[in-house]
Amino acid sequence: MQVRKFQLFIDGKFVDSQSGMTFESINPHDQSTVGIISKGDIVDLNAAVAAARAAYDGRWSRVTPGEKARLLNRLADLLEANTDDLSRLESMDNGMPLALSAFSVADAVNVIRYWAGMTSKIHGLTSTAMRPGEFHGYSLREPVGVVGGITPWNAPLMMAVWKTAPALACGNTVVLKPASLTPCTALALANLYAQAGFPEGTVNVVPGSGEAVGSALAEHMDVDKIAITGDHVTGRRIVEMSASNLKTVTLELGGKSPHIIFEDADLDTAVGHALIGLFTNSGQACVAGTRLLVHEAIHDRFVERFIQGAEQIPIGNPLDPSTRMGPLASASQLRKVQEYVEVGKQEGAILCTGGHRPTAPECANGFYFAPTLFTGVDNRMRIAQEEIFGPVGVVIKFRDDEQALCMANDVIYGLAAGLQTKDLKRAHRFASRLQAGTVWINTWHMVEANTPFGGYKLSGYGRENGFAMIEHLTRLKQVWVDLNDSVGDLLGA
Ligand code: NAD
Repeated sequence: MQVRKFQLFIDGKFVDSQSGMTFESINPHDQSTVGIISKGDIVDLNAAVAAARAAYDGRWSRVTPGEKARLLNRLADLLEANTDDLSRLESMDNGMPLALSAFSVADAVNVIRYWAGMTSKIHGLTSTAMRPGEFHGYSLREPVGVVGGITPWNAPLMMAVWKTAPALACGNTVVLKPASLTPCTALALANLYAQAGFPEGTVNVVPGSGEAVGSALAEHMDVDKIAITGDHVTGRRIVEMSASNLKTVTLELGGKSPHIIFEDADLDTAVGHALIGLFTNSGQACVAGTRLLVHEAIHDRFVERFIQGAEQIPIGNPLDPSTRMGPLASASQLRKVQEYVEVGKQEGAILCTGGHRPTAPECANGFYFAPTLFTGVDNRMRIAQEEIFGPVGVVIKFRDDEQALCMANDVIYGLAAGLQTKDLKRAHRFASRLQAGTVWINTWHMVEANTPFGGYKLSGYGRENGFAMIEHLTRLKQVWVDLNDSVGDLLGA
């Protein structure tokens, strides 16, 4: 496989970093080099912010909503036409199976088209006249300015699209800092932005470390907003840094989502959703349903079927179309998962499947780990509370609804939650009482371009997707007009 070279994308041009430094992106399947990437630092970041500011103040502000929509639709068409290349690149860079990476390109296309349609629907309000005939008031909904996007390594292309297309549709310009581990598809996306004809400086992509480029972006006095998807520790640091100029922040952070399986659930469906909820993308999903709360009456049958399903998942080279679980994204993520498995054993949980690396020869050089499940887990254990971000789930038994709800909410995160039951009244009662930004009933992983997505508690704040996102990418300006010539006599002058 040919190693691809990627440069920074600043002011509409692909350029080397000013330091000339590069870094490699590694295929987690066999540790071969996927790409050699120019490594940005603060000097490059400053140039990107300056370009984004100039574009915001100039070119982009003069582009009509119709033209913005046309550009975004052209970008969507280009993504669609390049699905094979993008999904193969994503699979090699991140380890996600081809079936999933192709799905994520299709999803990214939906998001872009949704926001293309939104360009003409962003508007302020006219207030009811409190003093009819005297004053007229209305609000303008304006872009925030330069938006900094910071993305994680687990869904690189999708996150790059979430951080750029909506911000542009709302009239902002963007500087994107992709995760160092998986920067390739964000830079391939930059190429498509250029091909689509977006004006210079509207989108800029600067790969580099979080400490150097990410921090510089978060602290920058000329950046008006940061949208970060990442770990909650990083999120907290970004909030601290954002105080430099009181920029606003949207935080999409981690999760430890409860998936409650009630005694009346259709067992096959519940097991199917539990497997998908936990093992999609090798468990490297912020919304992974990692805490399986299972009613004691069906616990043993559920666990037995879950193990059967887990042991049948086709694991292997992400580029093989039949693969459903690839490797973890990096050696350090594999180590982290292995450490947590040891923690689980030490805590007294029962390892009932997995807990080791697959033995197939094709997995020998990759960061593979088998689907893993612990039973006999107490909700206070670390493996029940901390985000592992790998294919490791825990089963916690419950005896009644109140206990299930209590344990489901007893965690620092609140990104997603789900339940499997035939009792719709119970389902809706739980939906209102679960502390999570998304609740799935008899399904998992549903996220659409037109519905709000985000967290409660340490899973962050702000929402992405849907109309709710406009609130975070724009600000309101109130305009008052005096309809008469009178100045009033407040000062008696
Ligand atoms: P991370 O927090 O380590 O990194 C995320 C991004 O922040 C990267 O681009 C990184 O370089 C940058 N960064 C790191 N330190 C920084 C700093 N000091 N200043 C500025 N930027 C900095 O997260 P990760 O390991 O890449 O991704 C996994 C995490 O992301 C998990 O916690 C996962 O749950 C979360 N995640 C959340 C969502 C969501 O939508 N809520 C989606 C995907 C992943």
